[in-house]
Amino acid sequence: MEDRDGFIWLDGQWLPWRDARVHVLTHTLHYGYGCFEGIRAYATPQGPALFRLPEHLRRLKDSAHILALDMPWDSEALADICCEAVARNGLESAYIRPLVFLGAEKAGVDPAGASTHVMVAAWLWGAYLGEGALERGIKVRVSSYARHHPNVQMCRAKAISTYSNSILAVREARRDGYDEALLLDTDGFIAEGSGENVFMVRDGQLYEPETTAALDGVTRRTVHVLAREMGLTVTPKRITRDELYCADEVFLTGTAAEITPVVAVDARRIGAGTPGPVARELQRRYFACVRGEDERHADWLRLARG
Ligand code: PMP
Repeated sequence: MEDRDGFIWLDGQWLPWRDARVHVLTHTLHYGYGCFEGIRAYATPQGPALFRLPEHLRRLKDSAHILALDMPWDSEALADICCEAVARNGLESAYIRPLVFLGAEKAGVDPAGASTHVMVAAWLWGAYLGEGALERGIKVRVSSYARHHPNVQMCRAKAISTYSNSILAVREARRDGYDEALLLDTDGFIAEGSGENVFMVRDGQLYEPETTAALDGVTRRTVHVLAREMGLTVTPKRITRDELYCADEVFLTGTAAEITPVVAVDARRIGAGTPGPVARELQRRYFACVRGEDERHADWLRLARG
């Protein structure tokens, strides 16, 4: 990732990609305290456009607030920077990564006295769960690792430190031949994927777990709107793993993963073992929105070169 042409924004400056470096004593490198966002831009007839940028930047602000980090840049400034990261790097579609981290002024767990830094990078990133995942669906396993308890980690924040848990889960899943992990909460109910929210369809009804232990995803909220437009309501409920095994459809949602159908859970086939009609129709509507082909949701897009 580090050896390429382009520009990365760090603390108010556009640096050549290879020069965007931090000191090895950076506090966040040692203790993982910080937060970030993942945003996508898509090619539209008017040029590259960022999808639901204000919602992502609001969550970034909330994440920093939850972690009691002083954000040196407001959301309006960061919105312009995210757009410029796409434009300056000449990208037609992109994944955009703003990240807030603590500096290298001090050692020790207590970050008092460490400065807050912000960086924004953008690069081309295809299907997050691999070639064919969106079309063919993926196989997931229920992880042996539980998702965070809200009294252990702040689950509303997209905090860097929560991702050690995601990494343990995804490595375990891949080692065992699965594409992705699904994590249960500490009460044993389905929480979310390592980097996605989860939905289930049964008898024409759409369900999702309550988000107590899961991230409140922007894609998930988009699915709520699109499902409503399809005449479906989304019911939050506690979902057990065996309920999931018996679902007609399961799918994951996330900025990176988009809407990815799940065709097997723990080696149990889901529905017909192929992507189901609800997931496929949601995908169709989602991609129409992000590509600027759905007038009703034009306000979800912000042109990178506005
Ligand atoms: N849960 C986790 C743990 C995630 O990392 C993500 C990706 N940000 C999501 C859910 C989905 O969130 P979003 O739709 O906002 O990308």
